[in-house]
Amino acid sequence: MSVIEVEHLHKRYGNDVAVHDVSFSVEEGEIFGVLGPNGAGKTTTVECLSGLRPADGGRVSVLGLDPRADRDALRQVLGVQLQESGLPDKLKVREALELYASFYERPVEVAPLMERLGLADKADTRFKNLSGGQKQRLAIALAMVGGPKVVILDELTTGLDPHARRSTWELVEQVRDAGVTVLLVTHFMEEAERLCDRLALIDSGRVVAVDTPAGLASRGGQTQRMRFRPSAPLDEELLRALPEVTTVTWHGPQIEIGGTGNLVQAVTSLLARRHIIAADLRVEQASLDDAFIALTGRDELV
Ligand code: ADP
Repeated sequence: MSVIEVEHLHKRYGNDVAVHDVSFSVEEGEIFGVLGPNGAGKTTTVECLSGLRPADGGRVSVLGLDPRADRDALRQVLGVQLQESGLPDKLKVREALELYASFYERPVEVAPLMERLGLADKADTRFKNLSGGQKQRLAIALAMVGGPKVVILDELTTGLDPHARRSTWELVEQVRDAGVTVLLVTHFMEEAERLCDRLALIDSGRVVAVDTPAGLASRGGQTQRMRFRPSAPLDEELLRALPEVTTVTWHGPQIEIGGTGNLVQAVTSLLARRHIIAADLRVEQASLDDAFIALTGRDELV
């Protein structure tokens, strides 16, 4: 059974359509990403899923529950961290967790939760004195304190430095490893690529594709890209004649070649036959960025 089902969700604010038609389902135990640029309708979608907003059309269910009609039952099994937790500045970490724990029928114990999420030494620190990364740890802890089966994490790492972002990613993996299904909203490609088992790419209120990160990346039409500075003039027609090569672009003295299959071997053996050395060679696998551009026609995610 799918843990989350979204079928033809439609949501308007007045006359403005925030979500045109969004469908996806999330299986038990996965980290499922909802990825798309700002304004795509991601937050509206998860707000409908968590019962915070009524849908104007379509159907959503979480663990077989209707988020509006079964709101009280859903609250016991769904942990939600939405953008801007908005806790009072003076509230201490332990107090916040104990307060939230009191809202649930079967909360987890606060002390081991703080330990697990690296907050034990901040138990008596006030919210306003936490760093951005620590606030996000607390947000995850608050989403977990009710002992949920599913958690929704929305733009968890926005504004964090790369180190804090990476340690937050490890926490999300820990949450999943503890048997909790995770729905992760993000506009960071790298985050989606690193964390998600599958993801829905959303643009302008519509699902563009649902796939694994690797599956999505390969929809961009390229699977690999090489970039280097040839040590001697290189006739690009020879490159284009290789069946593995799909694109050739120059960036000053550097050449960038996109393609599929055994691209690297095909290009390096051509270079070897011509006695050309590939200086500063970089090889990259296709990324979600490429897929995003190919699937939506936009040049960037934000
Ligand atoms: P995302 O999370 O992908 O950035 P949102 O769901 O926040 O997208 O927003 C989708 C669209 O709905 C945007 O055009 C946004 O301006 C609009 N929107 C979001 N929340 C509201 C609201 N409370 N009232 C009116 N319009 C809104």
